[in-house]
Order: sequence, then structure tokens, then C-alpha cells
Amino acid sequence: MGIGMLYYNMRNKKPSVKCKRCGLRYTIDYTECPHCTGLSEQELAQLKRVIRQGRIANRLLGKKMILAAVVFIIVIVIVAI
Ligand SMILES: [Zn+2]
Repeated sequence: MGIGMLYYNMRNKKPSVKCKRCGLRYTIDYTECPHCTGLSEQELAQLKRVIRQGRIANRLLGKKMILAAVVFIIVIVIVAI
């Protein structure tokens, strides 16, 4: 379980449901949420914090990827001329 599991579930094309407790999605293969089942309230708060940080990191990474693509295109244009 953890971030790797999270990405695995995101890639998974199986129907999924959103957990009411932690907000994460899990496939219908599970009868209960594999992310937060068995976690205490404190551990759940920690999990939510990690999820939020991961989303912020993904957003920043997205911007960097766009910037890298723009720089790459500019370099190609310069080289081509
Ligand atoms: Zn959950």
C-alpha cells in the first residue's frame, strides 16, 4: 500500500468507487477501501496530508514538463534555422 498502490489504482481501468472516508478511489474488487481501512483517525489525517502533497507535487511537475517542452521546441527551431 502507499503511493505506488495509488498510481496502480489510477491506471487501472476497472470500475472504481470513491471512498467516503479518505476520498481515494478503489476498484470494485475490494469490498472496503484498501487505503484507509484499519487506519486510526490520526493515521487517516496523515494519509490525507500525503495525498494533498502528492497532488501539489503533480501540479508542479506538470508545469515543469510544459516548460521543458516549450524550451525543447525553441531549441529545435533555433537549430533548424
Ligand atoms: Zn478510504
